[in-house]
Amino acid sequence: MITPVEALRRILAGVQPRPSREIPLLEAVDQFAAEDLFARIPVPPFDNSAMDGYAVVASSCAAGQHLRIVGEQPAGIDRGLSIRAGEALRIFTGAPLPRGADAVIMQEDTTVEGSDLLPKTAPVAGEFVRRRGADVAEGQKVLAEGDRISVQRIALLASQGLRSVSVGGEVNASLISTGDELAEPGAALLPGQIYDSNSVFLEALLRKSAVHTVRLTHCADNSDEIEAALKAASASDLIILTGGVSVGAHDLVKAALSAIGATLDLWRIAVKPGKPFLFGHLGSAAIFGLPGNPVSAFVTFLLFVRPALLKMRGANESARRLPEVSARLSEEIRNDGPRPHYIRGLLRDSTFESVGLQESHALFGLSRSNALLLVGPDEVIAAGASVRVLTLG
Ligand code: AMP
Ligand code: MG
Repeated sequence: MITPVEALRRILAGVQPRPSREIPLLEAVDQFAAEDLFARIPVPPFDNSAMDGYAVVASSCAAGQHLRIVGEQPAGIDRGLSIRAGEALRIFTGAPLPRGADAVIMQEDTTVEGSDLLPKTAPVAGEFVRRRGADVAEGQKVLAEGDRISVQRIALLASQGLRSVSVGGEVNASLISTGDELAEPGAALLPGQIYDSNSVFLEALLRKSAVHTVRLTHCADNSDEIEAALKAASASDLIILTGGVSVGAHDLVKAALSAIGATLDLWRIAVKPGKPFLFGHLGSAAIFGLPGNPVSAFVTFLLFVRPALLKMRGANESARRLPEVSARLSEEIRNDGPRPHYIRGLLRDSTFESVGLQESHALFGLSRSNALLLVGPDEVIAAGASVRVLTLG
């Protein structure tokens, strides 16, 4: 069986970014930059005042000394004014600094007598002056290819005067749940049935990853049905199946894939939960076969599907990773098995504790968890140990 690291390497090698597109800045939240972006203008674009006050020549001011007020520069239109030693210019926040001035005294630190200004303090050169390019220099890289576009970054792009941005392509997905025992939420549950929870939370996970076009199909454990559903999904960028990828007599997904000519790139990963996992291709569609057990499907989606679909959407390596933080273990955690185990737990006040049954069908613990701790084969981690955990948001 292959390791999770090798599996992810092969999966990422097997998917390619979708063609980029130009979209309005407002629609770009949580999209990924399709190219490096460089500042077209410096920010601020000109030297300006950080305060309402008076522009002065710092070396010519002392507390209590009289300066002559020679004019006024509001924000908006540069009047092209200048001052000399012994002079002051009324100025407002964001207004261009007059030539000759090198400091601003805020109005609270002055008194005015007729057309004279009396500073209460002596300014130092540069005080309350925002220099051209001090925040962003012209030509400076403001966004790297594959960076996630946060609202903070949108603020910066807007300050560059941009109205649109080139981002990674969209991904559309087909979701196929398989299993004779599955009932749709809302329907009455017959003896022997369980509700199809996977379809629901997998669609939610896809939407959270900005995949909004999702075709949903449910198949019984029947080869013809599964083959037909796969064929109907073949135009999707991403096909996600759940259930039927294990080794039981009713696990028909693998055979269905080979019957319709799909390639199987990998099957079964040495990971817990999530061993029966499959990755392959059907034409240009990437296929993920997730285990039927809900916790396994959830964890393998985050570990293997999410990074792949983010790569398809143009995310770079760091934008694809789940956020990782340091935490202290509240209790001893052991993995007696041969596979790396992702323990579901609650991260609170920098402390991680495992929650609920750590079994692959057990959704209650998962529902209270917000982080995953990787425990290696036969590893015991002591209570109080410092660990790194993946956060689920
Ligand atoms: P399978 O991978 O098909 O052998 O299924 C493994 C376990 O997951 C079985 O207990 C199934 O009943 C359960 N299961 C399969 N598909 C789903 C689903 N869509 N929602 C909830 N549980 C499922
Ligand atoms: Mg099944």
